[in-house]
Amino acid sequence: MVNGYSDSAQDRDDSDVERAVRRHGAVRAAVEQGLLGQDTPIVGLLDVIGIRESAARLRAAFDEVTAPGTPVLHAFAVKATPLVPVLRLLRDEGIGAEVASPGELALARAAGVAPGRTVLDSPAKTPAELREALALGIAVNADNPQELDRIDALMRSAPSRSPLGIRVNPQVGGGSIEATSTATATSKFGVALRDAGAREWVVRAYADRPWLSRLHAHTGSQGIPLTLLAQGVAETYALAEEINRRIGRPQIDTIDIGGGLPVNFASDATAPTYADYARALREAVPGLFDGRYGLVTEFGRSLLAKHGTVVARVEYAKSAGGRPVAVTHAGVQVATRTVYAPGAWPLRIAAYDGKGRPKEGPEVIQDVAGPACFAGDLLARERALPLLQQGDYAAALDTGAYYFAHHYAYNSLARPGIYGFAPDGNGGVVFATVREEQTVQEIVAESGGAHAGALTPLRAPGRD
Ligand SMILES: *Cc1c(COP(=O)(O)O)cnc(C)c1O
Repeated sequence: MVNGYSDSAQDRDDSDVERAVRRHGAVRAAVEQGLLGQDTPIVGLLDVIGIRESAARLRAAFDEVTAPGTPVLHAFAVKATPLVPVLRLLRDEGIGAEVASPGELALARAAGVAPGRTVLDSPAKTPAELREALALGIAVNADNPQELDRIDALMRSAPSRSPLGIRVNPQVGGGSIEATSTATATSKFGVALRDAGAREWVVRAYADRPWLSRLHAHTGSQGIPLTLLAQGVAETYALAEEINRRIGRPQIDTIDIGGGLPVNFASDATAPTYADYARALREAVPGLFDGRYGLVTEFGRSLLAKHGTVVARVEYAKSAGGRPVAVTHAGVQVATRTVYAPGAWPLRIAAYDGKGRPKEGPEVIQDVAGPACFAGDLLARERALPLLQQGDYAAALDTGAYYFAHHYAYNSLARPGIYGFAPDGNGGVVFATVREEQTVQEIVAESGGAHAGALTPLRAPGRD
């Protein structure tokens, strides 16, 4: 075990290697089939086989540690990859949806995810959102006492099939990235359990509301070590036990343990695995798996990250101050976190030649830049890679979650097309459109094009 990550041969099977081989095939085929080229200098690619594999491993990992017959809902955190065909693919693999806005709920519904397999978790739900969720029978975790008041009012006005719970912040501390640490003392999410009076308030809230049957915590995303994630779950479980004991019956029947399994961005290895996490949880919180509680999980990044690649053409290769700089079409618009916080969110870059073949040759320290008009728009700084030349391709790896699906419209750069890929059965690769490339007409329309003259009639009174 290194850093709590198992490295047994059983976990490190060939699938990580096979995924890299599929990626090479897909980049090559994308160039050969014209998805990528001079006029389409950037695409996002999604490995359908890899996504299916990760979903199967998630299910298997929890099947292995739960008592037979335990209801387990794996709800994919839609914010990680908010793309309807991806949500449908996951549905096909038995995965539901965790949503946190009206838009995400609409995406899950468009993908056909059943209300009974959907969980609503946002920290800022409006009365209309809550009403819709309760009318549909979607599970809701109340974030705070004011939200619970709103749910009380809705429950008085109409019955609902929605499983309802409260989100707590176990305040077990943060990880290495502040922005994704949700269990710090002052995190904005959930009821801060260690604050004065908070625990008693939560216990009372359940005692007063027999329809509250779930308890939820999400300890954080990327940067949280497994031990801290497990500690967050252990605290949540202990609270559920206390509530049920004090009420005198098993009112809480389901614990939602959130997502947050970190992703290894340093190599092709999947580490930690879902199996590592499930085993760590069983060790830390054995009672959670003895069949008395149903489980909900909300993984996002760990399901999709390693299955996405953004591939961008090198428009120009130049040199500045003695350093080679490859100016590509992938920058802040597709890798926003990496560009603005490169220390916390480094990405691997793979070099491909103009035909989409892995690039060989001695490594040279170079910058890989994006197309946006500010100096910091760099995908990678001082990176050792075979020298990128004009017409080559730079691929940003592990970008299937929170990257190319999270477009940032700086410089009105178009949202790239996204394609899923799989073997075609004849040694080739077949692509399926997930999202079309945004057109400049769409950019104009989405930028107020229909209101071009809206501002000019407005003037200070009395002047003309
Ligand atoms: C973001 C989020 C998740 C998913 O986190 P990952 O790190 O992508 O697994 C799950 N639950 C909630 C409440 C979230 O906010």
